[in-house]
This record gives sequence, structure tokens and C-alpha cells, in this order.
Amino acid sequence: MDSPTASQCSFPDLRDVFPGCSSYEDLYNLSIKETDLFWGTLARMSLRWNRDFEHVSNCNMESGLFRWFLGGKLNVSVNCVDRHKEKDPDRVALIWEKDEPGQEERITYGQLYTMMNQVANVLKTHGVKKGDRVAIYMPACPLAVASMLACARIGAVHSVVFAGFSAEALASRINDAEATVVITADQGCQSHFVAKRTGSLVVSSTLDVDLDEAMAKESGECEPAVMDSEDLLFMLYTSGSTGNPKGVVHSQAGYLLYASLTQRLVFDCKEGDIFGCVADIGWITGHSYVVYGPLANGVTTVLFESTPTYPDPGRYWETVQRLKINQFYAAPTAIRLLLKHGDEHVEKYDLGSLRTLGSVGEPINVEAWQWYNKVVGKEKCVVVDTWWQTETGGICISPRPSAPDAEIHPGMPMRPMYGIWPVIVGEKGEELKGNDVTGALCLKKPWPGMARTIYGAHSRFLETYYQPFRGFYFTGDGAIRHKDGYYQITGRMDDVINVTGHRLGTAEVENALGQHPSVAESAVVGYPCNDKGEGIYAYVTLKDGFLAGVKMETELRGIVRQKIAAYAVPDVIQICAGLPKTRSGKIMRRILRKVAADQTENLGDISTLADPAVVKDLIANHQTIK
Ligand code: ATP
Ligand code: MG
Repeated sequence: MDSPTASQCSFPDLRDVFPGCSSYEDLYNLSIKETDLFWGTLARMSLRWNRDFEHVSNCNMESGLFRWFLGGKLNVSVNCVDRHKEKDPDRVALIWEKDEPGQEERITYGQLYTMMNQVANVLKTHGVKKGDRVAIYMPACPLAVASMLACARIGAVHSVVFAGFSAEALASRINDAEATVVITADQGCQSHFVAKRTGSLVVSSTLDVDLDEAMAKESGECEPAVMDSEDLLFMLYTSGSTGNPKGVVHSQAGYLLYASLTQRLVFDCKEGDIFGCVADIGWITGHSYVVYGPLANGVTTVLFESTPTYPDPGRYWETVQRLKINQFYAAPTAIRLLLKHGDEHVEKYDLGSLRTLGSVGEPINVEAWQWYNKVVGKEKCVVVDTWWQTETGGICISPRPSAPDAEIHPGMPMRPMYGIWPVIVGEKGEELKGNDVTGALCLKKPWPGMARTIYGAHSRFLETYYQPFRGFYFTGDGAIRHKDGYYQITGRMDDVINVTGHRLGTAEVENALGQHPSVAESAVVGYPCNDKGEGIYAYVTLKDGFLAGVKMETELRGIVRQKIAAYAVPDVIQICAGLPKTRSGKIMRRILRKVAADQTENLGDISTLADPAVVKDLIANHQTIK
């Protein structure tokens, strides 16, 4: 690990903090064996407290009750803004990369401080109090960040709703959160603050408040509310890949500590770095790695408002060159999309500023990982496949932190973060010990960034995460612990395919298909089949310039036979124009399962589906199973 000095960075090198530890292994063992010592020391050292905490943790995996830093008082916005503004008000906090390239705006910590306080005062003037829920429905922009921080300043609970959602999806999230206020932007991007009195979405002009005008009337100073470590900070909906989205709740201190520690250690981020996470602020990745993590660490964070292909597929790399981004963090769906468009869009740009390349959201197939590493990273960057969830608050499994020269294998997150204890659990709920085992991925030890509940649905919280396997947090994902002890995600447990008694993870088959030169993306699901329990149905999209045909299908089957085994060979291959994805870019296999089984009358909750036309096309071209 590189060692920034304490004065350069709000987090000193952990080896200096825990002098008996000289390696990742030492620190990891300490974090597992002496959990309270580990997290308590880091919390005191890296956060500013109004009152010190009395106990580090009081957690119970059996009952699903989690409390961290009990008795401590702090304010998250002070930790993210005031601390850095006091030291250096002119340091750039945000770079707003707008839709049009070359129009970026820079906001310093001093400016962000004033903006946040003005929004906080507007909220207070309109009667918003500690504990009230505020919905934020805005694209990535400085005012959206200021609004999140303004809530934290006064102790209101924000619920950011992805700005691409329909009014209906917004309305259901407002109702679910019982939000009293919505902060939104109109189409011309002139900001509005819409105060609401009823539970339904009625945007009446008498309730509209022009946010810019209201802010101009308010002071740029606002006394921060003194919050308890366990008061709610925000709620946020999951992506809805497997069903009805869950309104996950995070609290103050534990979340902030975990988001900021992982942001610094996984990405090797130091003060002065420009951190480019291109996720929307409407997802947990945007919360932890666009807003809270980087700001708590005092670095410059990029707010990316555009899309990977506007005005052309070189957009990310032109942005990296122009803004001199040091760490770049994106989703596999975007990487696969750009790979499909060819290397020339990357090669035009100087990407010499990059040191770390991150991936999150889905398993990254080996082909996409290699492309990211070679074509984007020129084999000089550290590539980190990071596994985590809305519920985990921050990255839980990732190749770093570890020694700078520790090996990295393509397409797997490999090693647990400090304090994270992954276990593989078998069908009967038993922990599978040793290496070379496959099963349900669970976490055995509580960590500060973990979700505290599902808003208004604590019993759903317990049923989903703590009751399936007693004593463990169940992630819903499957994983392999390889011979060398490294973790690889095999896909969702709901999606596991059972072929003649063999349990197959979707990612395994998709990885194999992805190695064929023509394949851009693939998604594999099971369908009911009398002979073997389940049959395998593969949906495949092709790279530009390739055409479907019998020869290609034979080759695709051959590659799966060679890489995995004969039983894993797809029975059906449907070449398609696109795959159904959530708004955050994840493949919705549950819809593909319905199409494969020819049961398309009821597709379930599709409120987070990005493009319904894709589903129509899949149904129209559905291959009848012989
Ligand atoms: P829902 O819970 O509503 O079905 P979701 O699980 O897609 O939606 P998120 O919290 O946004 O909602 O995503 C977390 C999930 O994303 C993980 O459980 C895992 O399935 C997948 N995931 C995230 N990162 C990785 C990764 N690096 N490798 C494999 N899978 C990943
Ligand atoms: Mg999930």
C-alpha cells in the first residue's frame, strides 16, 4: 500500500494506525478478531465528532439489530464539507461534467458550503424538521449534491429517486417514504423546490417554490444539527433486478465511515486526486462513491451528467483526458457497450492520468475485464472488480486493499474488505468450510456500513436477509471460493440453473459465451424441461459487423462445452438486438425466464425496466423449444 502522510490525507496509512500490522493479511485478521478496536480507532481518527461514542458496536445477526458508535454525536455534512472548507475553501469539491462536452463547471468546497447551507435554510423555512423525509428527483448536478448534504445538515432523511424514472415511479417512492417535500429540476434545468402536503403526486403551482429564488433569500450559514450515530441518514431503493425494489435505510456514522474508508483504500485515492465515478446519484454507487465517500475524504469528485455514447463512444475517455481523472469507476454494461464499438474510440485519447479502474453492478465477464485492462488501462492501471450492494453501503469484496503488487485475476472481486467475513453456505444452511466450494454468499460479521432496515418494512428486511440462513447476512448472490481462497460471484441465487442435478451459475455460462469474438453481451436463464429439470436458454447480442447463423451457433455451443462442460451447453440460443435492463444497467433475468418459458402474460414488477421495446422484440423473436 502506498503511504500518504497524515497531513496530506484525512486517513493515514492503516499500518501507522495499527503499528503491529504490516500487511493486508495482518490488518484483515485484526479487523475480524478485534472488530471493535479496529472500527472504533478508525471512527475516532477519521470523523469529526460532537461527542465521542461510548460503545463501538451492539449487533446481533440472529435478531437483525445493528448499532454502531453508540452514544456518539456528529453531523455528516460537517464531515463532508466544513472540515475541508476550513482548511482550503478554494479546493475543488465537484466537477460537474454536463451533457455537452467541454462545458464543465467547478464548485469549490467554499461554494458547496454556501450552497448546501442555503438549501438547508430553505428547507427549514418551509417547515422541514429533523427526521422528515425529503425526496430528491434531480439529475447529477451540484444542486442535487447540495440538497443531499442540506438534508444531512438539518437531520432530514433524503430519498434520492433516479431522475430517469417516470412520474408514476416517483409517486410510489414518495408515498412509500411518506416524504413531505420533493426537490426537483424542471426540464430547462431551472431548479424547483416543490413542497407537498398530500400523499399523492400533485404538482400544484401554489406548492411550487423556485429554489434559486428561495436560496437567494437565505443565509449561507446554517447551524448543523447534532445527530446521533444511529439516526437515519437516507433511504434508497434497490435496482429492482429481482423483484419489487426495497427502500434500504442507512444511518449516519457507520455509513460515512465505511463509504469513505473503502473509497480511499479500494481505489488508492489521495488528496488532490480527481475521482471519476460515472454512476448516477440515484443509485447507491452515486451516494457512496460520487457524494459521501469522496467528499468525506476531501477529494475532487466528478458529477457525470451525460451518457457513454454522447456525442460518440469516446465520451468517457475524452472526459478522462480533459479532466485528468485518476480513478474511473463504471458498470460492466457500459464497458461491454463500449467494447462493442471498437478500440479506436479509446485510442484517440491520452489516458495517462488513470491509476485505478473500477467495475460494479454485475459480474464483469473476462473478455470485458481484459478489454478494460488492456485498451483503457494500457495494462498499467489496477483493475478492481468490486462486489457490493445497496444494502452493504460500500464495497465488500475487491482485489484492493492489498499490497500494491498482490495478484489480480480477471473477472472476480477476490478478497474481502477489512471487517468483511464472507462465507459460502450450502443448501441446508451449513457453512461450507475450506476452498473450492460453491454456494450462497453470506457475510458472517456485522460491519458499520450495513443497512439497518427496509423503510416501513422491518419484517421484509429480516425475511430477506437474516432468516434464510440463521446467523448470517444473506446477500442473494451465489459465489465460488476458489482453490486459492479467492471469491468469484456466480450470479443471483434466484437465477441458478439446475440441469440434471448440476447447479450452474448464470455468470459461468455467460463468461464462456463472451469469449467468442462475435459476442457483445449474453444472458442465460433456465426454463422448465421434463428431461433434465431445466434447460438452458441463452440470449446473445452481437458486436458490430457480425451476423447470426448456424455456424456461429455451433461455435458458441462449442465454446461452452470446451470452457465448462457438455451439460452447460445452451439448448436454445436467441440472437437479439438488446437485453432487458434495469435503469441502472443490470440485466433483468427474471423477464428473460418468462420469455424463455413462454409465460409473458404477467412479467411482474417492471417499473425499473429501462426500455420496454426490448422485451417486445424478444417476445416476437422467441424461439420455440423443441
Ligand atoms: P434488487 O435487490 O431490487 O433485485 P439489485 O440487487 O440489482 O436489485 P443493487 O443493490 O443495485 O440492486 O445491486 C446489488 C447486486 O448487484 C448484487 O447483489 C449483485 O447481484 C450485483 N453486483 C454488484 N456488484 C457486482 C460485482 N462486482 N460482481 C457481481 N455482481 C455484482
Ligand atoms: Mg439486491
